[in-house]
Amino acid sequence: PFEVLVVGGGPAGAATAIYTARKGFRTGIAAERFGGQLHDTLGIENLPGTPYTEGPKLAGELERHVGEYDIDLMNLARAVELIPAKREGGLHEVRLANGASLKSRSLILATGARWRNLGVPGEAEYRNKGVAYCPHCDGPLFKGKRIAVIGGGNSGVEAAIDLAKIVGHVTLIEYDAKLRADEVLQAKLRSLPNVEIVTSGQTTEITGSKGRMNGLVLKDRNSGAERRIALDGVFVQIGLVPNTEWLQGSGLELSAHGEIVTDGEGRTNLPGIFGAGDVTTVPYKQIVVAMGEGSKAGLSAFDYLIRTQPT
Ligand code: FAD
Repeated sequence: PFEVLVVGGGPAGAATAIYTARKGFRTGIAAERFGGQLHDTLGIENLPGTPYTEGPKLAGELERHVGEYDIDLMNLARAVELIPAKREGGLHEVRLANGASLKSRSLILATGARWRNLGVPGEAEYRNKGVAYCPHCDGPLFKGKRIAVIGGGNSGVEAAIDLAKIVGHVTLIEYDAKLRADEVLQAKLRSLPNVEIVTSGQTTEITGSKGRMNGLVLKDRNSGAERRIALDGVFVQIGLVPNTEWLQGSGLELSAHGEIVTDGEGRTNLPGIFGAGDVTTVPYKQIVVAMGEGSKAGLSAFDYLIRTQPT
């Protein structure tokens, strides 16, 4: 069995494994796709110390870094079930889709999250070519331009307030008849001169030409009328879904949004099981945050392992 088994091979999982391997623990990583969301990311400009890199390149560097240690990297390994140890100090079990079963004294769950897509024509085609999901990451690319934010919940309205400072004009589009964000955020949004708020608006298509998006088609859900808005970019803010479906019913505490509930040290409600990165309740889903949380969870696992007798 492993002493540390990391489930997930994104920035959080990679950071954890490097920390625990350096402590001399028998460490494994089981990942559906090593690198995680980095494979969907083009330019990265907010990783301090690295002014510019690209997602697939950073994923390659993480794999090389992991490879410098005695870490058992199992790629294309999808976890489907968690069976926690019966007693503190006992072995936890993770079952994989290929039928294999892995056992470990401690587990770090770092299965990340995925942005909910609109699912309309043009969205996939113009992803990273105008269609964006992360305002902290891609906001500065649209300096002075016309953009839309889709989604009138807290994340959409926060994104619109944030982006209004950088871009020329923001159209916020909400599907429902009214915004769902906290009133204080809505009031802030309404006070901004370069923001238009559209409610009962359904985006039916993202349009583009010459490999770049140039607008979207907006349908008024009351009248049925459609109009085209010319835009340089669109931020889709209709939810970030944690990859925790496989943990349902395991006894691990999840939040109302399905995130793994962790404390300041990455501990979950189950002894010896830790969480890190986008999959947890820790706010601000960013690479540097995921790496920091992964390192912390690794050190917490170290602390657990040296204080707990194997049973
Ligand atoms: P992830 O990167 O999501 O990795 C999760 C890992 O778990 C993957 O290896 C996955 O295959 C695996 N996994 C999932 N389910 C299972 C399972 N059941 N069994 C086994 N393995 C599983 N952040 C920035 O800081 N700067 C940026 O510029 C930036 N740009 C972004 C652009 C895009 C388009 C996107 C989508 C995200 C961007 N982000 C950016 C966010 C950043 O990518 C994430 O915050 C970060 O990758 C989170 O790391 P993580 O390790 O927690 O999760």
